[in-house]
Amino acid sequence: MLLLIARPCPGCGDTNWYVCPSCLDALEPAPAISVPGAASASGVIRYEGTARSLVLEGKEPHGRHMLRWWADALAVVAPDDIDLVTWIPASRSGRRLRGYDHGRVLAGAVARRLGRRSARTLRRVDNRAQRGAGRDSRSEVDMCSTRRQHKKRLLLVDDVHTTGASCRIAVTQLIESGASRVDIRVMAVVPDLTRMSRRRAYSDRIGQTPGGASWT
Ligand SMILES: [Zn+2]
Repeated sequence: MLLLIARPCPGCGDTNWYVCPSCLDALEPAPAISVPGAASASGVIRYEGTARSLVLEGKEPHGRHMLRWWADALAVVAPDDIDLVTWIPASRSGRRLRGYDHGRVLAGAVARRLGRRSARTLRRVDNRAQRGAGRDSRSEVDMCSTRRQHKKRLLLVDDVHTTGASCRIAVTQLIESGASRVDIRVMAVVPDLTRMSRRRAYSDRIGQTPGGASWT
């Protein structure tokens, strides 16, 4: 029975571990992030190398066990005094691809660990007119809140923080809908390559450039 649920380490394939100690060792803390309007925002690990495998495993149809691992990590860094856990909804194409919304599963698991409820607070706006628009303009108005939040303190969880555009929109919508506070916790943060290239030669990083992975 144990064999049926045992999974190899997503980082290196070692079959004896869930996430093996050397892969855990290789993880680096997430760089600092800030999201306008959020009371606080932080990520667990830097989205690079092994961390990418751990994120991508959680996106696989068989990856729910990895989401539990992530939920443990997010619950540890979550504020104590929140009322509700919520998530940034996947796009229609993301849901179709994977059959369910990973953010919802993640938020539910984090909420259970915190002894709180999770609930949908945002939905995607299907704006076909945005098709073909540039990446920046397209990401602007694609989400709205689903209900009044009546001064609730919300914990918003997400997977990979890249430009922060989705988080910005989500926070704006949630505060406008009446939330008294929004704290953001993300699994992984893509390092700022522009800033990084100033610190060290770009050639050092070739081959490690993060892809645009996102669940949405
Ligand atoms: Zn490993």
